[in-house]
Amino acid sequence: MKGNILVISGPSGSGKSSLMNEVLHKFPNACFSISTTTREIREGEVDGVNYHFVSKEEFKNDIDEGFFLEWAKVHDNYYGTSLKPVLKDLHEGKMVIFDIDVQGHKIAKEKLGSLITSVFITTPDQQSLQQRLINRGTDSIEVIQKRLANAVSEMTRMREYDYLLINDNFETTLKDLTAIAYASRKKMSLVDAGEFISAWANVE
Ligand code: 5GP
Repeated sequence: MKGNILVISGPSGSGKSSLMNEVLHKFPNACFSISTTTREIREGEVDGVNYHFVSKEEFKNDIDEGFFLEWAKVHDNYYGTSLKPVLKDLHEGKMVIFDIDVQGHKIAKEKLGSLITSVFITTPDQQSLQQRLINRGTDSIEVIQKRLANAVSEMTRMREYDYLLINDNFETTLKDLTAIAYASRKKMSLVDAGEFISAWANVE
């Protein structure tokens, strides 16, 4: 059995990080792909847990060395998914969860499409997203404006995803995301059908 990838995208403030953390607790074989970023560390975040925080120079160096499966510029900062740890986790049969943006999803799908199930999580409307970003209290008004503008352009690409979750109730959305994560492990594209069929046919 190969591992699989669950991609979660959506505007920041849609609640995807909290949902993802709950799913990680529910699946013993799930792990989080820790991205690398040039963004400033936020209060409460831990280097090496939430992200690997690096300088722009280090990030550019990593690009040159082919370190990333995908990388993108989001809200003026760089974010990237390291290839090696993902391949190791997949080899061990794990469900690797990616919290990446729409640009990253497109590239990851081009490279590892058969292993990917993707979910786009958003709020019922733009107003509630704005309210959540304000309530979160981690960003300045200027940054919130940037995130809202980015959210509009991200929304236009939600068709590229397998599933859409509108997070107006945390518990309901968590139930839906858990069901999707569970089903993602059963995808036909994860199975070597030829090998399975010949083993199946040869058994007495
Ligand atoms: P934040 O700064 O709020 O942690 O993340 C901002 C955006 O960057 C989010 O939409 C998040 O999904 C995205 N992001 C985080 N890590 C990666 C990554 O490795 N690659 C890409 N393409 N986007 C990422």
